[in-house]
Amino acid sequence: MSRKSRRRNLHSDRLAKINRFYSPDEVQELYGICRNTLGNWVRTGLKHFEKDKRRLFRGDQLNHFHRDRRQRRKSPCGAYEIYCVSCGNKHSLLVGGVTAEHGRQRVRVEMACPEGSGRASKWIKSDAWADIQAEAMHNPDSE
Ligand SMILES: [Zn+2]
Repeated sequence: MSRKSRRRNLHSDRLAKINRFYSPDEVQELYGICRNTLGNWVRTGLKHFEKDKRRLFRGDQLNHFHRDRRQRRKSPCGAYEIYCVSCGNKHSLLVGGVTAEHGRQRVRVEMACPEGSGRASKWIKSDAWADIQAEAMHNPDSE
């Protein structure tokens, strides 16, 4: 994925008007995103409510969601986490489904994004991978 599209994954936290309500179509237009992306945002914590069977988003909650996301992006991943470009979240490496490709001193770990269709990967040191495997054995969520 190019650097440009990676940056586009983060949106301004001041774009929405705080006292306004937005329909899904308006949110998509405001951020220039597609319906799938909005669905991902909702799954990853964007708050919304329903009025007359229509989904609505509040401006201040949209801004809050993006502020949160930017901050999470800035804070470094923990040893057992991986940053996912596709959904903008960190995922635990302690769950099942992580594959490892061994280089000379480092290991490239990769996993499918649980929130969408993307994949997340990163290079880590071989001993860090050994730690993760040991930790995953004690993790009740692992398969
Ligand atoms: Zn993800």
